[in-house]
Amino acid sequence: MRWPGVLEYFADYLPVTSHTPLITLNEGNTPLVESYQLVEKLGAGKLYFKFEGMNPTGSFKDRGMVVAVAKAKEEGRAVVMCASTGNTSASAAAYAQRAGLSCIVLIPQGKIALGKLSQALMHGARVLAVQGNFDDALSIVRYITSHYPVALVNSLNPYRIEGQKTAAFEVVEWLGESPDYLALPVGNAGNITAYWKGFKELKEKGKITSLPRMLGFQAEGAAPLVSGKPVSNPQTVATAIRIGNPASWKGAIAARDESGGLIEAVSDEEILQAQRMLAEEEGIFVEPASAASFAGVLKKSEEGFFTGRETIVCVLTGHGLKDPDIAIKQGEGRIEEVGASAEEVVEILGLEREHV
Ligand SMILES: *Cc1c(COP(=O)(O)O)cnc(C)c1O
Repeated sequence: MRWPGVLEYFADYLPVTSHTPLITLNEGNTPLVESYQLVEKLGAGKLYFKFEGMNPTGSFKDRGMVVAVAKAKEEGRAVVMCASTGNTSASAAAYAQRAGLSCIVLIPQGKIALGKLSQALMHGARVLAVQGNFDDALSIVRYITSHYPVALVNSLNPYRIEGQKTAAFEVVEWLGESPDYLALPVGNAGNITAYWKGFKELKEKGKITSLPRMLGFQAEGAAPLVSGKPVSNPQTVATAIRIGNPASWKGAIAARDESGGLIEAVSDEEILQAQRMLAEEEGIFVEPASAASFAGVLKKSEEGFFTGRETIVCVLTGHGLKDPDIAIKQGEGRIEEVGASAEEVVEILGLEREHV
């Protein structure tokens, strides 16, 4: 099947004009994987995983980035710039190359997962490691892009939100209706804003009759939307949501309140446990931030929040290979050394011969 990518497939829903270059890496059209095992633990009716790690650069950021970069090119920009905890920079770097633009990324020094950094470097971006956190990097980028001829491609750019809302369209196209709950990790809060916008647009157009309740989950050490005030020194193992002052604060609160949903916090331990459960029990490898959605749903289920008849979609925002360090730490001590002989391997495995 030919999949033309987000700009072409969803053109009617996006700010696409006859002048918009239809660049693509054939992003979007990611799988909605049905849970076999974890659904039992939850006691939910149906549980699905929207696996956004299957996008070309390994995260949902590609959906919005393709729109932002195409519009920057349409508007005659030659350079795009972003602050990033990692995935935005990987995506910006790839799509900038695709469009023939150059790309500058500002990352918080030492706080970016190795896979993501390798992508920005391979795609030829100019990478500046800022001696500060994500929020510091973003305020520098906001200043520069408003005073110099450089296009901002962070999710403050409304084209990013437009592109990201297409994930909601795909969920509905797959299920034939809206799920009862949509759970996702929340960092800078662009994605929860985008999904909510997508669902609302479908309802306005009469494509769905009900809207999902939005369940946003932040990491305990970086949960400004839960406490109601910015966090000056956010801390979490889930670097993609290590954000103390979300740019789309208002969008997230509106999504929560209009949908009758919630935004709560999960601990790093709960996030890492959920990451292992997804990998071991469903065969889906995601980065730590992505596991916050399932960690949150699991926690709510233990609190008796669900009735057992609902359809729940957990958005899994990024691929596990993005952050190999954390994954290897999770498996520490699991590698067994053995001599290079069949006998030794048989012995260590404790295998018994079959008697025929
Ligand atoms: C960017 C990102 C998030 C957070 O999304 P926001 O739109 O900033 O809330 C979560 N998970 C991954 C893997 C990301 O790359």
